[in-house]
Amino acid sequence: MRLILLGPPGAGKGTQAQRLVDKHGILQLSTGDMLRAAVAAGTPVGQRAKAIMDRGDLVPDDVMIEIIAERIDRPDTAKGFILDGFPRTVDQAVALDRLLDERGLSLDRIIEIVVDHTILSDRILGRAKETGGSRADDTEATVSKRLAVYREQTAPVADYYRSRGALKQVDGMGSVAEVAARIDENLRAGTDA
Ligand code: ADP
Repeated sequence: MRLILLGPPGAGKGTQAQRLVDKHGILQLSTGDMLRAAVAAGTPVGQRAKAIMDRGDLVPDDVMIEIIAERIDRPDTAKGFILDGFPRTVDQAVALDRLLDERGLSLDRIIEIVVDHTILSDRILGRAKETGGSRADDTEATVSKRLAVYREQTAPVADYYRSRGALKQVDGMGSVAEVAARIDENLRAGTDA
């Protein structure tokens, strides 16, 4: 199974992806996690990405597309994967289509977790407090920038898939378990659910 989870920062993509990993044994490919690992390891990509991430901007498309292409080509993706945090621009979505085409692969589902944007900033900052603020980009200024970047550059990705009839929306308001149940229901239903 190959899935994309879309949704703004704080929508719960990471949490839901992790649950799907546990349930279906497929891989979670989180570009945010990959970038944070690259920053921690001090690789050339990490060195380049750090300042961009700290201010809440997007890492350039060509860098991200290369990271994803390389990742998808590793053998551990054979059973499938959940993309979490990619594609984040329409150009990334177009590149992903081409990349999958070239490999004879397709996507089973593109699920958008829909939430009320007014709660996001509080959710992210609240989570940062709980976890001791382990993410450098969970400050008030950066969070508001990340949300603005989402509206401007990532919301059109949902439109891109919607216009191709490929998007499923799931209500992301409610508990983790409630949202999980909605995602499961969506996955069980046929492609035209
Ligand atoms: P969020 O909680 O904001 O969804 P992520 O962990 O997905 O955070 O990403 C953190 C940061 O990593 C983003 O703000 C951005 O700078 C960078 N990043 C992650 N994925 C991408 C991507 N696909 N394209 C460009 N930048 C990305």
